[in-house]
Amino acid sequence: MVGMTRLCVPLTGSTCEQMAAGLTAAAAGGADTVELRLDFLQEWSEPAVRRLLEAAEAFPGDVIATYRIAAEGGHYDEGEAQRISRLEFVGLSGAVDYIDVEYEAWRVSANVRQKIGLVCDVNADTDRPRRRLILSKHDFTGTPIDLDSMLTTIAREPAHVAKIACKANTIVDALRMLDALRTSAAVRPTIALSMGEAGLLTRVLAGKFGAFLTFASLEAGQESAPGQVSLAEMKQLYRWDAIGPATQVYGVIGCPVAHSMSPAILNAAFGETGFDGVYLPFRVEPEYAAFAAFVDGCVVRPWLHLRGCSVTIPHKQNLLAYLEKRGGCVEPLARRIGAANTLCIEPGQQEDGTDAVVSAYNTDYRGAMDALLAGMGCRAEDLSGVSVAVLGAGGAGRAIVAGLRDCGCAVTIYNRTRDKADALAVEFGAEARPFEERVRHNADVVVNCTSTGMWPNVDDTPMPAEGLASRPLVFDTVYNPIETRLLREAREHGCRTVDGVEMFVRQAAAQFERWTSRPAPVALMRDVVTAKLRSAQH
Ligand code: NAP
Repeated sequence: MVGMTRLCVPLTGSTCEQMAAGLTAAAAGGADTVELRLDFLQEWSEPAVRRLLEAAEAFPGDVIATYRIAAEGGHYDEGEAQRISRLEFVGLSGAVDYIDVEYEAWRVSANVRQKIGLVCDVNADTDRPRRRLILSKHDFTGTPIDLDSMLTTIAREPAHVAKIACKANTIVDALRMLDALRTSAAVRPTIALSMGEAGLLTRVLAGKFGAFLTFASLEAGQESAPGQVSLAEMKQLYRWDAIGPATQVYGVIGCPVAHSMSPAILNAAFGETGFDGVYLPFRVEPEYAAFAAFVDGCVVRPWLHLRGCSVTIPHKQNLLAYLEKRGGCVEPLARRIGAANTLCIEPGQQEDGTDAVVSAYNTDYRGAMDALLAGMGCRAEDLSGVSVAVLGAGGAGRAIVAGLRDCGCAVTIYNRTRDKADALAVEFGAEARPFEERVRHNADVVVNCTSTGMWPNVDDTPMPAEGLASRPLVFDTVYNPIETRLLREAREHGCRTVDGVEMFVRQAAAQFERWTSRPAPVALMRDVVTAKLRSAQH
């Protein structure tokens, strides 16, 4: 059965009053289903529970009652007979539409089967049971190999909905969970979710694959399981209501990745232009093997519709290495720079994805140069002969040195690791000087391509203030915070400044255009990232 996937808010208040308030907030926030997590109640008072159930009757959507035991990740650790009779009491009140019971409790206990089975009409010959039964299995340690058999085992019982939730130790575990969801949802109402940060895609894409429901917390901090996103994030950031079977999937591959601004900026751009896409954070462990396993895993699942990724620290080198090994195409610019930040996947005809075309691009080059030219108010030709001191020789440094040299700038590279500066200078016809000498530069422009000064180390600066005395134009590629210490001191010395937000917006806009073939809504993207950075409570 495939129907509209519900967006369910688990109510985790410690009192019935808090839960009742949660019902109102969940309805106002656009949830169509709530789960009363009775095990979160700190005490059980029948009159208070009765009032909660009265409030639940007024909830416009369906209500699930769950009284989760500690062994399956809940908070209830008292007697089983008491738990089942309370659940029976809640069920018989008529206020709830579904009861969730652990498969294991159901299997081993005739009392559970008899009482909850009766409340849920599991043996009654009716298409319209008074309440429906969700049987669930949880694994908070990892994702077992055979998820299909977990679901079919549950489905042998008279459950109306089969649910599994397992911890994703890697993002490939989450891909396997999607496999299981697709198979099971084709024949029965199914909830199949991966817990933890790596499992986020199973939560957001549940609707694309016809799950019975996905969970979203009422607010950050009120999650009932690890990795739940909030209701507001699900609705506004990930545009839950716009995700359907044909939605194309994009994301940012990084580690860590939770604080990336890319989902905000690209999802907003998809929404603004009416593009049927969703953009997610993909937490992939730093090793090459983990990167390759994830991208391979997406390629062999063409039904996932993964069409592209931004690739960030620490995976930029892994992207080029992957294409080298797999035989994909690297655009000449990215090959020349030796760094790429954008992955594209062009689907083929084969069901196993083997004929998909994978390619890599560099949008940092264009982002950085567009930002610098806009900041200087000049054209590329005007840069010829301008002297530039570049701090750093990593991926961003490589793109910027290439761009500056293409415009005819005289570039001097200062990098903490001298060898990298020397090698980069040789490649692009620049000069390399010891990092300690950066303060004695006499350049017209200083560009910071190191990570120094980036949140949370906001009191650091890559250039001592004496290095700003000659009033160069200063461009800091770091974009969080918007005004770094380097930019603040540059401004105080009367230098003109260009911040990293401009580069960030323009490189993201270049990715958007490559993926969608539509003009990027640059002004909106700038507003989104600026607002997000300003409101961040760092
Ligand atoms: P990367 O390849 O890891 O390079 C990091 C660079 O920072 C290297 O040159 C490294 O020097 C230097 N570095 C790190 N810690 C340092 C320290 N304590 N003192 C001096 N130098 C230090 O990273 P990347 O991709 O080039 O990114 C670098 C920065 O650029 C990022 O932090 C980000 O803020 C910014 N960036 C911005 C955008 C944007 O769109 N605005 C895009 C890409 C990057 P060593 O070689 O000695 O390790």
